[in-house]
Amino acid sequence: MVNWKDIPKIDAHIHLMPEDVIQANSGHGYVFIDHGSVDDYKKIMEKYNIDLAFVMPFNDPYMLSMDFKVETVHSNMLAMVQKMPLKLRCFADVDIRKNINETINELDKVIARDEFIGIKLHPSNAGYPIDGCYYEKIIEYASKKDILVEIHSYPKEHLQDDVCSPSRIKNVLKKYPNVRLSIAHLGGFQVEDLYGLNAYFNFSAILPDYVNRFGIKRTNEILRLIGVDKLVFATDFPDSRCLKPKEIYDKYFEILNEMDFSLEEAENICRNNALKMIDKI
Ligand SMILES: [Zn+2]
Repeated sequence: MVNWKDIPKIDAHIHLMPEDVIQANSGHGYVFIDHGSVDDYKKIMEKYNIDLAFVMPFNDPYMLSMDFKVETVHSNMLAMVQKMPLKLRCFADVDIRKNINETINELDKVIARDEFIGIKLHPSNAGYPIDGCYYEKIIEYASKKDILVEIHSYPKEHLQDDVCSPSRIKNVLKKYPNVRLSIAHLGGFQVEDLYGLNAYFNFSAILPDYVNRFGIKRTNEILRLIGVDKLVFATDFPDSRCLKPKEIYDKYFEILNEMDFSLEEAENICRNNALKMIDKI
């Protein structure tokens, strides 16, 4: 049996918060605030053998800045990454309220830095469809510049055309088939619609939700149907629909330990696929 806790890992999707945002919002029981400190996460990385983690923005500047500006989100993310420069990287944010040319200029500025390894698009937080023209402009830009794009995809189950549904992601890919793509949360419970897609897939947030619904064996089959060469370890720490923040990593390893992946496959999922995704091997 592979012991997933012991394998050196990259967590390809986590959330951390700037100090001033934590201070201004503490005491209200918010998960991202109470478990968002970089110093606390450093201890978690040591405990669970996480060598590197990718910090995600929200496409909602109210979450990561005190002046609610995407430029400040970026400088805050940069400051967080620079607290642990060998152990953290981050994705660039987008604020769809801004003029698209200003957004592209800002992306140009931050993507030039090593700390920023891609662009995050979060249709659900923005309340805007992934195949809408604003996001399309960004995907066109990323495709041209060969920049990795991560798309949040955990659609409402009963809506085949939710803003982050696979059907809409596929519309975008038809137009920009060469864009380097990462899908977060595996398309939720519409995962079957993403089988065969040319993308990386991280099982942040969704893995324990699948196990609760389908059991370990069927979840294992779903992961194999996506393809071991495309799967990327990620948790969405500290966020989860069914777990407390402190339970997340132990539960992920408990689940994965019961699956049929070989050590080599587990090492690819934990590390090598993520490095390929960010073009580091
Ligand atoms: Zn997330």
